[in-house]
Amino acid sequence: MSAKKIGLLGSTGSIGVQSIEIVNEHSELFDINLLTANNNAELLIQQALEVQPECVVITNEDKFTLVQDVLKEKNINVMAGEKALEEAISSLDLDVLVTAIVGYAGLKPTLKAIEGGIDIALANKETLVVAGDLVTSNAKAKGVNIFPIDSEHSAIFQCLVGEKIEDVEKIYLTASGGPFRGKSREELAQITKEQALKHPNWDMGAKITIDSATLMNKGLEAIEAKWLFDLSFNQIDVVVHPQSIIHSIVQFKDSSMKAQMGLPDMRLPILYALGYPDRISSDLPRLDFANHHNLTFEQVDKNTFRNLDLAFEALKKCGNLPCIVNAANEIAVDAFLKDKVGFLEMSDVIEGCMSKVSYIEKPVYDDYVETDSLTRKMAQELL
Ligand code: NDP
Repeated sequence: MSAKKIGLLGSTGSIGVQSIEIVNEHSELFDINLLTANNNAELLIQQALEVQPECVVITNEDKFTLVQDVLKEKNINVMAGEKALEEAISSLDLDVLVTAIVGYAGLKPTLKAIEGGIDIALANKETLVVAGDLVTSNAKAKGVNIFPIDSEHSAIFQCLVGEKIEDVEKIYLTASGGPFRGKSREELAQITKEQALKHPNWDMGAKITIDSATLMNKGLEAIEAKWLFDLSFNQIDVVVHPQSIIHSIVQFKDSSMKAQMGLPDMRLPILYALGYPDRISSDLPRLDFANHHNLTFEQVDKNTFRNLDLAFEALKKCGNLPCIVNAANEIAVDAFLKDKVGFLEMSDVIEGCMSKVSYIEKPVYDDYVETDSLTRKMAQELL
């Protein structure tokens, strides 16, 4: 069997780096043909020299010469700019595209890959939050598989193997509760970005780390789950599980529950997504029950963590509302990381955009683009 040909969008990020690690450990099964980054030319060059892909893309065009100068002698094609991402995806003969770009920027290249019949290993949850309807219906029409990398969705995906989707009563997405579990709104008002960037269980990129601290991440995951598993609003719930050992739970119509568990390590869901339908042997660390005596569960506090409630409102109404939430959240998180807005005020920006940007019940692609752009402007005004 020949190795699966992989494109890796966002290779210089947290998921990107771990994906390369997994591919290197299983080079007989996987071969990376495309690496992409936005700004981090130095790491992209280093990765390309190690992995020897056919092509690399740096979306920041100012970095093109720097990357090209080193890689041209190595027979690696170098391209730059946003359009180049799409060109590379359609010109290379890829089997799977790992989407590990952060944010709305992941949408267009993912749609391009689907158009070309390339399976998706999806880390970039924002793609499904913004345009889940469009992405999943295009994938269905093209016979394209979407394999989840997000650990909760990978857990549900694993629990569903051998099951019928109509037998699912509901799912529980587990949430660690983030670094501020149990804090009051008064305490949250004082939170700094340095505190918010310290997640207790996971080491991730800055944006998802802040989303985990506000619980927006769990809201985005609920919307992602709706589209991945074709679930309704009433079938999606969240339970706080501070140890992050149980990665999510499916409850079936006969009352049985299946959960997937293991140490918090994103390399496992990456390996499962790339290897599916096979389970691939790995040396990843094993859970030792001697070190994990208590697995506990709590109700989630939607009053204190308003972002979760806002995302669930978007999940209920759908249309372009999740796209509005996503764009407002991206601007709010960016502003928080630049010390321009307080921790709790991020919810005010999102709620303001949800009430001010026009609701569209059945959006098409151009509506999403317009909604994203209008919301970003509105969020900047509200800041
Ligand atoms: P990082 O911030 O660590 O990495 C993001 C990657 O995307 C980098 O390679 C970055 O390039 C690239 N990038 C950023 N902006 C753009 C852009 N506008 N155009 C093209 N490329 C861009 O993020 P993570 O790896 O943490 O997360 C990636 C995605 O995976 C997110 O959607 C996140 O929600 C999801 N995810 C992450 C998990 C994790 O454990 N990290 C867990 C579950 C899901 P550069 O380095 O050059 O800036």
